[in-house]
Amino acid sequence: MTESIPPIATPTHDVDGFVRQYLRELTYTQGTTLERASLNDKYLALARTVRSYLMARWNRTMTQQYRKQSRSVAYLSAEYLLGRQLDNALIASDLEQIAAEGLERLGLSLDELREAEVEPGLGNGGLGRLAACFVDSLATMDIPAIGYGIRYEYGIFRQTFVDGRQVEEPDNWLDNGSPWEIARPEQEVAVGFGGHTEKYTDDDGVERSRWVPGWSVLAVPYNYMVPGYLNGRVNTLRLWSARATHAFDLKIFNYGDYAEAVRAQTFAENISKVLYPEDSTPQGKELRLQQQYFFVAASLRDYIDRVLEEGFDLHRLPERITFQLNDTHPVIAVPELMRILVDEKGFGWDEAWEVTRQCFAYTCHTLLPEALEVWPVELVGRLLPRHLEIIYRINEEFLGQVRERSGGDEMLVRRMSIIAEHPERAVRMAFLATVGAAKVNGVAELHSQLLRDKVLHDFAQLWPEKFTNVTNGVTPRRFVRLANPGLSALITEAIGDGWVTDLERLRELEPLADDAEFRRRFREVKAANKDRLVRLLAARDGIEIDPSTMLDVMVKRLHEYKRQMLKVLHVVTLYDRIRSGELDPAQVVPRTVVFGAKAAPGYKMAKEIIALINHVGAVVNADPVVSQVLRVAFPANYNVTVAETLVPAADLSEQISLAGKEASGTGNMKFALNGALTIGTDDGANVEIRQLVGDEHFFLFGLTEPEASAIQEAGYRPAAYYEQNPGLRRALDLVASGEFSGGDRSVFEPIVSNLLYEDRFMVLADYQSYVEAQDRVEGAYRDEDAWSRSAVLNVARSGFFSSDRSMRDYLERIWHAEAVPVEL
Ligand SMILES: *Cc1c(COP(=O)(O)O)cnc(C)c1O
Repeated sequence: MTESIPPIATPTHDVDGFVRQYLRELTYTQGTTLERASLNDKYLALARTVRSYLMARWNRTMTQQYRKQSRSVAYLSAEYLLGRQLDNALIASDLEQIAAEGLERLGLSLDELREAEVEPGLGNGGLGRLAACFVDSLATMDIPAIGYGIRYEYGIFRQTFVDGRQVEEPDNWLDNGSPWEIARPEQEVAVGFGGHTEKYTDDDGVERSRWVPGWSVLAVPYNYMVPGYLNGRVNTLRLWSARATHAFDLKIFNYGDYAEAVRAQTFAENISKVLYPEDSTPQGKELRLQQQYFFVAASLRDYIDRVLEEGFDLHRLPERITFQLNDTHPVIAVPELMRILVDEKGFGWDEAWEVTRQCFAYTCHTLLPEALEVWPVELVGRLLPRHLEIIYRINEEFLGQVRERSGGDEMLVRRMSIIAEHPERAVRMAFLATVGAAKVNGVAELHSQLLRDKVLHDFAQLWPEKFTNVTNGVTPRRFVRLANPGLSALITEAIGDGWVTDLERLRELEPLADDAEFRRRFREVKAANKDRLVRLLAARDGIEIDPSTMLDVMVKRLHEYKRQMLKVLHVVTLYDRIRSGELDPAQVVPRTVVFGAKAAPGYKMAKEIIALINHVGAVVNADPVVSQVLRVAFPANYNVTVAETLVPAADLSEQISLAGKEASGTGNMKFALNGALTIGTDDGANVEIRQLVGDEHFFLFGLTEPEASAIQEAGYRPAAYYEQNPGLRRALDLVASGEFSGGDRSVFEPIVSNLLYEDRFMVLADYQSYVEAQDRVEGAYRDEDAWSRSAVLNVARSGFFSSDRSMRDYLERIWHAEAVPVEL
């Protein structure tokens, strides 16, 4: 039989094969012709063409994974900020050149078609982007791995500005269809909610519990390709979409209540409707807990019933898999696995716990106490009654252990309890994760140390060996190779192309920092990248920037701890100094300050700061004298696609959070790798960047974490800094005076009084140090040759920040899985 089936060949890896496949996709899948096709048709045909080159690799990966059943990793993350897929698929399959030529032959332009892709914005910022970098690295390193998450119908909102204020618009990323996903409705999984639990005696006379859910939804998986870079592997990212169960709506429908049937369906499908904006103050949002349980329950079910071979002995589960919990969002997986093992598989409590606690590892991503998730017991009990019972039992056994070890220290017991009593009874998800995981890691050296010393101190005392660090990283494929083709070509010419998968090899560039010709070419690349940015901002935002100026960039989510406010005060100070004649414009290094930031829709202060940036920018840019040397650009809707053009063009990278508040940062790494110099505090991974690139090539300022803590403990009084520092006083007075709000003093009054009387993130305390560091930046930038030498050294010494290295650290310290090359 099978002999008569001709083999299906992957299209040939040349221009002819590409063109043939493209026309086939356009004609037979898209159902159109070259003449009639819309831009979207042409893009979709291109995406499917590239996909068809990867399909055989994907199938082979899955087949071999199933056959070999090697130890693997399941990354559980509520967010994946993927960025555009086409470019990445092109470089992963070595098709860039072929596609460009093939399309040209058809009278089409690759550059034009790639602009038609809407990036899937299924994440808020750093945490979601990290997950995307990690799955890329795992595939490239040939690690059997699967990513699990949620296919939000609406990802992170699209930001626009109206009168300088943020307005959110829905992100309809699926409107034109997504060629990168493959739905697997036949692999849907039912996920229960609500209802009650009951005790019963099983056939062997054993007392057991079971959960009788009150309602359920279906989780439908959508598979995304995660192609390794030029290897044989294509891993899978499996994102779940919610559908109403068939019984759910049909029953009502049959009773003739069409409206009710639709309502029920909408209710169920709301679960994967929209990504929650991260605002570091997780409100008790019921739908959010539903989302978390929804994707985690579907993923565990999928892994156990579909990925594992039939009849696999679940006692051996830890030999096969680690479920990595990306922050606390998926932590409900811990009681869920206990429920599966105890209630469904008949395990005793202790043996189930032994398995469970070895299967999970937890990555903590914050230090802000208000960002640690807690769920009201009332809500958990209503939505997941059996899980609440299990959490209570886990807590009871754990606290018994604490009592025993501490000689009954009840204060300690209360501090460590998974259940908080105040202000309301609630489940502390970070504590549940720490108790339920074999390993707990922070995301930069400083952050991991502060976790051990502060946030999870009692736990680190109890289980010192459980705690470890893995410093974050970014994928060099997307953030250098793809985002910065000019620099990539220059590097490859100098040291070969091995750096793309072995980023430490950038070290070989070090001697070239002293080579004047290399530095000149490096500057040429930077200049070309700036021109590219000029074109993007003109076309996308109608913003004009001067590429001959120093590009000073601060892009990241808008949050008070990240201190965009400090950057604004610096801009206001420059404006004031020039206007007052204190600074001769002829003596100022011309600079363009670029901001990019979304604020969580409910985060008032963050939105006020956005308005302030835009208003200060408008005044600065309109001033005939100041605008000769200082301009502000704030393109709306910062996302991965913008980052890919902005980061390679930057001269100066702003990483200015209050020390001890930024867990790691990954934006800082992207900039250093693309040859920007950092002005930054001793915070997160900045510490490691500075250690690696060297103090002379990094502009350090600000309080250290211990200094900041000490001032806070002694009673921080921001107004004292205002009173004693004339420059700061003038800047703040200018904001308060209505200078940037058409004379209306009330507009920015909340910002000013917050800074004067609260200033939780010590903007005023670090102001002087920051302004002085910016003066040092100016001095350094004037020496073009010395600056580019530092920039080259930043690139050469930042190889450590590859997410491939992060993966190696996770593999060694936590996962203990090995590479399994996919055979051709
Ligand atoms: C890298 C990245 C981030 C994270 O930036 P940080 O400076 O580390 O906060 C956020 N958003 C996007 C789009 C990114 O690419």
